[in-house]
Amino acid sequence: MSVSEHLNGKVALVTGSTSGIGLATAHKLAQAGCNIVLHGLIDNHVGNELAEEFTNKYQNKTVFSSADLSSCDAIDSLFQLISDNFHQLDIVVNNAGIQFTSPVESFPLEKWNLILNISLTAAFYVTQKALPLMHKNNWGRIINIASVHGLVGSVNKSAYVAAKHGLIGLTKVTGIEQAKNGVTANAICPGWVETPLINEQIEAIAADDGIDISAAKHKLITAKQPLPEMAKAEQIADMVLFLCSESAGSITGSALAIDGGWTAQ
Ligand code: NAD
Repeated sequence: MSVSEHLNGKVALVTGSTSGIGLATAHKLAQAGCNIVLHGLIDNHVGNELAEEFTNKYQNKTVFSSADLSSCDAIDSLFQLISDNFHQLDIVVNNAGIQFTSPVESFPLEKWNLILNISLTAAFYVTQKALPLMHKNNWGRIINIASVHGLVGSVNKSAYVAAKHGLIGLTKVTGIEQAKNGVTANAICPGWVETPLINEQIEAIAADDGIDISAAKHKLITAKQPLPEMAKAEQIADMVLFLCSESAGSITGSALAIDGGWTAQ
């Protein structure tokens, strides 16, 4: 069975799918025949227009939510939207995330709490709410977009590294617990990916070193990765698609690096 035959008519929630990796993933899943719950912190009008574009392009049902994942009440409202529009939920991609950099001594507590809430607590709570819906069909895919920073540390990223290590731990336990229910859970661990998330870090290098943006980008990448290119969001999305396929049915509890050799060193 092709991936498209396999995924046709399934319902996929992709958090943080108004930009970057999440948006590329939503496109790939829609192209493979899924109905989509688009989600992100953008104006409802713009989000609803994006959902309409998906529906027109892929002839599927796409709905939009701007739920702020730092609040569990907002996640409840996201699931209300899902049950108002669909009778099932088959795929969850916990993707939304933010970055903030500062040494531990000066890391603001509110930024710590925000990063942990969005990248870890929301992934836990979304998973908890999604599992009973997946159990109805004895099939499900949970894909957590972690990071290379779920496997190794880097300076000034205490909250992000802690949240992503935690997300890989959550993935392992979910994979083990859900093996009996036809649900797999895996984490993807990207290195540098060309998205708006890392713009501030590139701009900071350019300003500090007095170099242009493309030189700053090269410096950022090669400080960590043997492969001197960033991954494209679509390449991460292709891995999500593969993890949703029947071919990936035996992969669960894994943390899969797409990191240009970063963690091979
Ligand atoms: P991005 O900034 O392009 O997109 C982030 C998405 O998250 C947006 O849709 C945004 O609206 C949403 N979001 C942010 N805060 C939110 C909140 N409070 N509530 C709801 N939604 C919120 O970023 P990206 O690079 O595509 O990142 C996606 C994921 O990939 C993140 O988890 C990130 O940690 C991870 N990642 C990115 C890279 C990279 O180099 N870009 C590397 C490794 C991992």
